[in-house]
Amino acid sequence: MFDNWHDAFIDLSYLIASICFILGLKMLSNPATARRGNQVAAAGMALAVIATLFMRGMQTTNVILILVAIVIGAIISAYPARKVQMTAMPQMVAIFNGMGGATVALVSVSEFTGADHTLSRGVVISIVLGTIIGSISFAGSIIAFMKLQELMSGRSIVYPAQQIVNGLVFLGITALSVAVVVQMQGNTSTAMLLGVFGLSLLIGALVVLPIGGADMPVVIAVLNSLTGVAAAITGFQLDNQALIVAGALVGASGSFLTVLMARAMNRSVTNVLFGAFGAVQGGAAGGAGDAAEARPIKSISAEDASIPLAYAQRVIIVPGYGLAVAQAQHTVRELAEVLAERGVDVRYAIHPVAGRMPGHMNVLLAEANVPYDELFEMDDINDDFARTDVALVIGANDVTNPAARTDTTSPIYGMPILNVDAAQTIIVLKRGMAAGFAGIENELFHDPKTSMLFGDAKESITRLITSVKDA
Ligand code: NDP
Repeated sequence: MFDNWHDAFIDLSYLIASICFILGLKMLSNPATARRGNQVAAAGMALAVIATLFMRGMQTTNVILILVAIVIGAIISAYPARKVQMTAMPQMVAIFNGMGGATVALVSVSEFTGADHTLSRGVVISIVLGTIIGSISFAGSIIAFMKLQELMSGRSIVYPAQQIVNGLVFLGITALSVAVVVQMQGNTSTAMLLGVFGLSLLIGALVVLPIGGADMPVVIAVLNSLTGVAAAITGFQLDNQALIVAGALVGASGSFLTVLMARAMNRSVTNVLFGAFGAVQGGAAGGAGDAAEARPIKSISAEDASIPLAYAQRVIIVPGYGLAVAQAQHTVRELAEVLAERGVDVRYAIHPVAGRMPGHMNVLLAEANVPYDELFEMDDINDDFARTDVALVIGANDVTNPAARTDTTSPIYGMPILNVDAAQTIIVLKRGMAAGFAGIENELFHDPKTSMLFGDAKESITRLITSVKDA
């Protein structure tokens, strides 16, 4: 059945690695097993890499080069991966994702240029696809990284004739790709493939530039899924089953995530990618500017804010990005416990894009051992705000902004939001009147039912705990 034990060993290792990837992914879907799932998938990847080192035809120089590359990669990535703040996770995901895309594109080009035999047309097609998708994913991820890391403006960057320029670049990529596939190997084809490589890098950057504001999570999910598809394509080129399975899993899960995130923003994926949704359209959608300064807001002390909380029947806590910045997850659990001891019904409302990465709030609150059955998804809790005495908004802004419902000029118009404004009393914890990720003013803060408790969320909650205990 197998030519020799080498083939049997490698095929079996790849099969076990693939099973590890699938089990790992399954375990990632539950906070209780997520850490173990990551370890299982990593063990699968280690096994796949080891098996690859034993592939037939693998020369000693190649093995040495691979090991050196692994050591360099591990040194470069281990430190930032250990040190990265939760809030900087999306950038980290974007840059890792970009590296995957770059790898696929480079492997594809070198498979073409370095082939010592005639390639089949099927392999040439997969090389062209790997080059296109890998380069788009790399360039797009780098732009996403720079936007999220604030190395460039996070807003939508638009310029005249943008769609026409994009269309022309797409046409160029298509024409060159077809020519490579028709002509097959040769010097002219190599030059054309390099052209495909360059133009795909360009279009990757051009497509992500106009995306900004609240759309970034969807873009990251799209790029993630693209890298997976590109890796699976490389698996076909290299006839490597583990790569095909791993790539397909990333591609499929990335696609699901894209659709779920887009649905959470009430957008179609096409609209996110080509609609420049993050663009600030006109003055009405502008940032928390001077006009906002003049609007009345009600400031409250922790002592005063603790009264409605202590005597409430129902409280819904709405966590957002500021909770992560303040690292207030343990403190908020403590406050919830103190309130629960007084007989208050406390629940958490989780918006799908609260924070800076999918599942950010769930991860944060799970870390603080907040019971999972106290966390409610937006659709499951939104109707309950109207029957809630106090909505306690902690470092959340965009996900509570009623402009998403009413202001057609707002860049977040159409995004489903938490119905915080339906609660009897609203207490918002944040440091000042700064805007959230989308850079826009929030009408909720001027609502007569809203009181602003200014300060770092962790400090404010600590003061609330003391005051509730004294109440
Ligand atoms: P926002 O970014 O809208 O607002 C966060 C608020 O937290 C700010 O207004 C800030 O105000 C406040 N804040 C910051 N630090 C502190 C602190 N230490 N203590 C108290 N408050 C603080 O957050 P949301 O969670 O409401 O919305 C998430 C946004 O991020 C959405 O627009 C979403 O689309 C976007 N996004 C989401 C991603 C995801 O995958 N979840 C990925 C990328 C973007 P102040 O400075 O005045 O304190």
